[in-house]
Amino acid sequence: MENEAKKSPASRLSIGVDFGGTYVKLALVRFEERNYKIVGYSFFPTKQYSRQGLIEQLIIRIIKLKAESTFKGLRVRGVGIGVPGRVDFHRGTVLDLTNVHDWRNVSLRDELERKIKVPIFVDNDANLMAYAESKYGAAKGFKDCVCVTMGTGVGGGIIIDGKIYRGANFAAGEIGHISINKNGPTCECGSRGCVERYVGNRFILEEAVQRLRQGAKSSVRERLNGRYENLTLEMLSDAGRRKDPFALNLWNEVGVHMGVVLASVVNMLNPQVIVIGGGVANAGKLILDPMRRTIRERAFSVSCQKLQILSSKCKEKAGIIGAAALALSDRNE
Ligand SMILES: [Zn+2]
Repeated sequence: MENEAKKSPASRLSIGVDFGGTYVKLALVRFEERNYKIVGYSFFPTKQYSRQGLIEQLIIRIIKLKAESTFKGLRVRGVGIGVPGRVDFHRGTVLDLTNVHDWRNVSLRDELERKIKVPIFVDNDANLMAYAESKYGAAKGFKDCVCVTMGTGVGGGIIIDGKIYRGANFAAGEIGHISINKNGPTCECGSRGCVERYVGNRFILEEAVQRLRQGAKSSVRERLNGRYENLTLEMLSDAGRRKDPFALNLWNEVGVHMGVVLASVVNMLNPQVIVIGGGVANAGKLILDPMRRTIRERAFSVSCQKLQILSSKCKEKAGIIGAAALALSDRNE
């Protein structure tokens, strides 16, 4: 403790784990006042291991990162783990995961705490991304925020009064499954016309390819030279930045669809900040401008007065930073 105090009175150390469908990433993070620094890192592929194998890998790697920290004269206060699914935060139990099979009702916290003698926190990954943005990212300094991650799916996290809002069954924040069309395409969640079916990266690409095949004119067509399977979101954003009307129109539609949903979110929660992150959000202004416009057109103007729509600051590190930050919080939050 003495050593720790000498180093810096505000320095705190924790481990954040971003448990994704493809990789599990771990980071040793040092927090100082309102900033952070990643001081150790490790990762391994998710699909190579069984459930028990994944838990064993987690234990081995957390213990290794923890050992590294002793050289730096600081002690790890806790470990936070973000998983892609529903988590009973208070019991530290993973209820179910998407894209990782055989994870139902797993007492992950208890299993890990038996081997690692520090407090373990387990939560949903979108919640933790929102937590990262609110503590150290784009929404730093604001009490209320909604964070949207636009990628393959559309995830959401809600922060109210600086705390994660999880809901009665830990299922709050499913912004991607707000419907924008009651007769729209069936979604895997069972509903129809979920916004995810219109703005998820796979659907944007499918829609673009379909329009190109039907003869839509675009500079993208020349770049692809008939090989539509090579189309990427980056190509579409590049084309949009070069004012290609086809790409501009497509991104505008994505922004409007998301804006329609967020207008309802704004009417419901009246947040100060909405943070937009994820791969699709790399299109930047191309979707943010129509999104902002649509929200202002549709939501109550009083709810828009203080509203800011901002790009993610923590980006791909949001999951890991949020997890590490949560590990320093009060478990009863
Ligand atoms: Zn859905």
